Amino acid sequence: MRALSMDRAAVARVGAVASAASLCALVAGVLLAQYIFTLKRKTGRKTKIVEMMPEFQKSSVHIKNLTRVEEIICGLMKGGAAKLQIITDFDMTLSRFSYQGKRCPTCHNVIENCKLVTDDYRKKFLQLKEKYYPIEVDPVLTLDEKYPYMVEWYTKSHGLLIEQALPKTKIKEIVEESDLMLKEGYEDFFSKLQQHSVPLFIFSAGIGDILVEVIDQAGVYHPNIKVVSNFMDFDENGVLKGFKGELIHVFNKHDGALKNTEYFNQLKDNSNIILLGDSQGDLLMADGVANVEHILKIGYLNDRVDELLEKYMDSYDIVLVKEESLELANSILQKIL
Ligand code: C5P
Ligand code: MG
Repeated sequence: MRALSMDRAAVARVGAVASAASLCALVAGVLLAQYIFTLKRKTGRKTKIVEMMPEFQKSSVHIKNLTRVEEIICGLMKGGAAKLQIITDFDMTLSRFSYQGKRCPTCHNVIENCKLVTDDYRKKFLQLKEKYYPIEVDPVLTLDEKYPYMVEWYTKSHGLLIEQALPKTKIKEIVEESDLMLKEGYEDFFSKLQQHSVPLFIFSAGIGDILVEVIDQAGVYHPNIKVVSNFMDFDENGVLKGFKGELIHVFNKHDGALKNTEYFNQLKDNSNIILLGDSQGDLLMADGVANVEHILKIGYLNDRVDELLEKYMDSYDIVLVKEESLELANSILQKIL
């Protein structure tokens, strides 16, 4: 009885070992098939460049059509420095949206936060921001619907600012004392473009005098840069009396772009473009370009991310969510230059 039961146990053990072995073989088979399939996909698909760039593997990077991005980057690489030009927004694109969990200022906020303005100005400026900023980033309203509100916001806030009679001589100090920060990796970005004489067009609905001072104080205001923005107009005593030229707001960059056709005409051979922006309005910045061969649109999505991600992925080739560095743009420049 005992001997017989031992035999049965041995048989059972052998059976168990055999079924475990076949299970292992099955799992190994599936893994091998998966590996071969992935390998085939990788070699068959034209996404070699992007897949090998670690900057693209971060969770902040969102791309709808990887093959298209790969093709554009290939086109940019073929053209090299000679064909390249950069068109970029400033606030929340070259500058940071937040640092250590705290919102960073825009050019306008630099003045709002400075010690030269009155508390009353600050209060009224804030009230305007609370009314109009949510409209700027509203995920449902169209650009056309937002447009008149932006005109209202800028007209009112610039009107308030002019009342403050700001002296031109204080701009340097205001910027020195501000919390505005350029995105991480800005040194590489600006210096690489300068080294290779790549034209850099900064197109901002912020305040030109502030952003130029920021870039200058960062030591990267190189001769390859052209800034189009709202520049302050000072009277003969150097006191702010208004703004020069036509207003540039978040959603009329199309008009501004077309007013700069002279600049873009000079760059007819620079038919490869990298566009950087953070707003849907920034997509209009390249509208004045004479000759476009390849354009890569990189969008920084900072606010109302869940509601806006799909829209951004439909319009920007690469969307960077809550990204405070320029490393992805730098990695692409590294490939091209
Ligand atoms: O450089 P950019 O075109 O992004 O500059 C526009 C920015 O200025 C927008 O992000 C907008 O929120 C901000 N703005 C502001 N205060 C105003 C008007 C615009 O902070 N009064
Ligand atoms: Mg911006």
